[in-house]
Amino acid sequence: MILPGATIGLLGGGQLGRMFAAEAVRMGYKVVVLDPDPHAPAAVHAWRHVQRPWTDPEALQQLVEQTAAITTEFENVPAETLRALAAHRPVRPSADAVAACQDRRSEKAFLNTARVETVAWGAISSPVDLDNAWKAVGGGAAILKTARLGYDGKGQVLVDAPDALEAAFEKLGGVACVLEARVALAREISVMVARGVDGAMATWPVGENVHRGGILHSTVVPSAGGDQLADQARGIAQEIASALEYVGVLGVEFFVTTDGALLVNEIAPRPHNSGHWTLDASVTSQFEQQVRALTGLPLGDTALLRPAAMINLLGDLWAQGEPEWGAALAVPGVRLHLYGKTEPRPGRKMGHLTAMAGSAPEALAAATKAWDALTHRPNGSTTG
Ligand code: ADP
Ligand code: MG
Repeated sequence: MILPGATIGLLGGGQLGRMFAAEAVRMGYKVVVLDPDPHAPAAVHAWRHVQRPWTDPEALQQLVEQTAAITTEFENVPAETLRALAAHRPVRPSADAVAACQDRRSEKAFLNTARVETVAWGAISSPVDLDNAWKAVGGGAAILKTARLGYDGKGQVLVDAPDALEAAFEKLGGVACVLEARVALAREISVMVARGVDGAMATWPVGENVHRGGILHSTVVPSAGGDQLADQARGIAQEIASALEYVGVLGVEFFVTTDGALLVNEIAPRPHNSGHWTLDASVTSQFEQQVRALTGLPLGDTALLRPAAMINLLGDLWAQGEPEWGAALAVPGVRLHLYGKTEPRPGRKMGHLTAMAGSAPEALAAATKAWDALTHRPNGSTTG
């Protein structure tokens, strides 16, 4: 076990890294962050911030010398970086587990091999694959996604006819893609699962997610789909974590289709936006759990303290100036999390709100009221 007082390493200094580092520091650890961005949100909690590229040998040498174990907040850290570090220090999750999630082709192939159901899909590496992929998805409504580096709905094009596929492939730059059958969604849910060094596992209550324009808008917990669906989803998340021999916190996004199928959409080898509510409404947050899994401490209790709703704060909220924080925080049960990003670009995740209440619908109503209040300008004033 790597006990409080030790220094741990973190690859990536975005908001997930910031919330991880805050929890680690609270627990008495020091954190060294590797992120080339001088304004990385996690830097404020870092004992040291190494501002160098992911593959810089000197930076990796510093991490090895200064830390007892290393984790990541970012699935696109080159797998070679994780492998190089793993020769000297525990790296959790492993390079292999992270690599499996870096490419939608390997991710879906892994899931299907583990007998986890996904949408019908086909891999496209070059134009010769287009016909087969169209057949693989059953020839109806489809969605083309870049195999790598997509997030928040970026790198995706809807395709409704076979003759539109080639143009879509070109639009995405001719890079490796997957074509997915577009399914009718009854709901989207997600499960956060943690697995320790000893193989012990814990899942949190299932969250119900609403996306807007491909970006997560809100998560409500507990989900409304019933206990049976929730248990099934938690079971699948545990199977995935076991099959990956995963150590750390893993996010599993599911589709529930209108004909009742439960399909895994994608997996994330790190804490997940749909698990942010755990900071406020769970005994143990997903970020504390990541610290525990990394350091070999026992996993913490994942019980829900109160029904909760999380709403993301995107840069769009700044269009008319600084949001009305006071108005939002006047709503009972609401807590604010801001990530310290200075540039509020549209679609950029700047922070989130969590509301807690006696029931999930009441929590969502409170979070929505606070979110609405952020852009309410009394007397039509346009100044912040
Ligand atoms: P990202 O990596 O950007 O989160 P996702 O694959 O999760 O990409 O897609 C973002 C959202 O787009 C999903 O949460 C869902 O709302 C919608 N979506 C993606 N793929 C499909 C699909 N095959 N069928 C129906 N909706 C989809
Ligand atoms: Mg997603």
